[in-house]
Amino acid sequence: MTQTSGFSRPDGIRYVKAPQAADTSEQSSISDSVATIIEAVATEGDAAVRRFGLQFDKADLETTEVTEQEIEQAFAQFDPQSLADSRFAIEQVTNFAEQQLATMKPLEIETLPGVHLGHRILPIRTVGCYVPGGRYPLYSAPIMSIVPAVVAGCDEIVACLPPNTHETMFALCRLAGAHRIFKIGGAQAIAAMAHGTESVPRVDKIVGPGNAFVNEAKRQVFGSVGIDQLAGPSEIFTIADDTADPRVIAADLLAQAEHDVHTRVGLATTSTEIAEQTLAAIEAQLESLSTRDTAGQAWARQGEIVVCEDRRALIDYADHMATEHLQIHAADAHELAGEIRNYGSLFIGEAASVVYSDKCCGTNHTLPTMAAARYTGGLWVGTYVKVCTHQWMEPAGVAEVAPRAVRQSQAEGMEGHARAAALRLYPDDHDRILT
Ligand code: NAD
Repeated sequence: MTQTSGFSRPDGIRYVKAPQAADTSEQSSISDSVATIIEAVATEGDAAVRRFGLQFDKADLETTEVTEQEIEQAFAQFDPQSLADSRFAIEQVTNFAEQQLATMKPLEIETLPGVHLGHRILPIRTVGCYVPGGRYPLYSAPIMSIVPAVVAGCDEIVACLPPNTHETMFALCRLAGAHRIFKIGGAQAIAAMAHGTESVPRVDKIVGPGNAFVNEAKRQVFGSVGIDQLAGPSEIFTIADDTADPRVIAADLLAQAEHDVHTRVGLATTSTEIAEQTLAAIEAQLESLSTRDTAGQAWARQGEIVVCEDRRALIDYADHMATEHLQIHAADAHELAGEIRNYGSLFIGEAASVVYSDKCCGTNHTLPTMAAARYTGGLWVGTYVKVCTHQWMEPAGVAEVAPRAVRQSQAEGMEGHARAAALRLYPDDHDRILT
């Protein structure tokens, strides 16, 4: 293993372009300022939220909740084609989420005579959807966080988005199904939803992607409130053989790089030629890209291109990176897909652009970053429900289970457990058991 940018890389790879070393001091200063923000919001409520809105977003707001009148005005401003496209995206995300929910079934079974076990799928009551929007008005963002909550059947859906986000985003939050919408961004939004303020309700779970401040805040409030996952600055990696088109790969990498200067993008290929041509294509395409300030910085800082010595090294590299978006541009794309297990979402073959999922094809675009794909998939309708077990017993079940539970409790020295179990086994002997 070799060490680069804080990540150890698999063997059998050679860099054509390496990422710069990560600045770890930046992360610790983010952690400190986020902790200060959370503490202030938890103790001072709305006053702290307003203060941070002024400090970080230059927004001097009397109240942060979006009014029904503002929502109406937002709908009036919406370009009809954009509204129609957003409705299409909502339909696709709804449809896929409904199909996914249908795969989650309640369970009622008798595992032994008289032992009845089961589970129910219960929607989380209140969810807080963070809708990022500092850099761009991401039209698809409210759809991805809010629509699955509607499909899951959550009672109250709260949305928070940075105050300077374009007003049309208020309409999108409502169109997607949010009940209450607040103009609060960053760590202060996460703190407000986690602890509640005079105006923002305390929620049971916070979902949605965001920048480094948002994700650090979610990490720090976890426990007082549920969180979906850490979905930070976007990532894309492509693995490719010699049949790939370097210009398409370059366009895909830059499409994600324009999200944020912290975006991580990369290519791993078995072909030195494809590696070198992609490097050249990225430099050429950056020149005419209107978002090149952001995309160029992201590419310079985190961009990487590696040549893998063989197909096995390609697979190991993909699993090791556990990236948010993984594209496979290879003749045997479907076979490769079956051999890789760490990714947020997989894009099999050149036709499946990440942009389709980002915007409107129906899969959710909120996905794990920073190698969290090793242990979780992305946001989905299952994120908004709880699978809660239950049990009930008949006498035959008690006769089978209780003696074992009593013996095990006694062996553990847990007399209280042993008594509680024995009471059911000997209903006529309670006085003897309890004294
Ligand atoms: P954002 O809404 O996440 O963050 C904006 C907020 O950050 C501002 O409202 C401000 O309050 C706060 N902030 C900015 N500078 C600060 C500072 N110095 N100190 C404290 N707080 C500060 O919007 P964004 O910045 O545009 O980032 C959106 C992010 O979401 C991008 O990184 C994008 O890649 C990511 N994203 C990820 C996914 C995913 O699924 N992983 C999906 C969509 C977007």
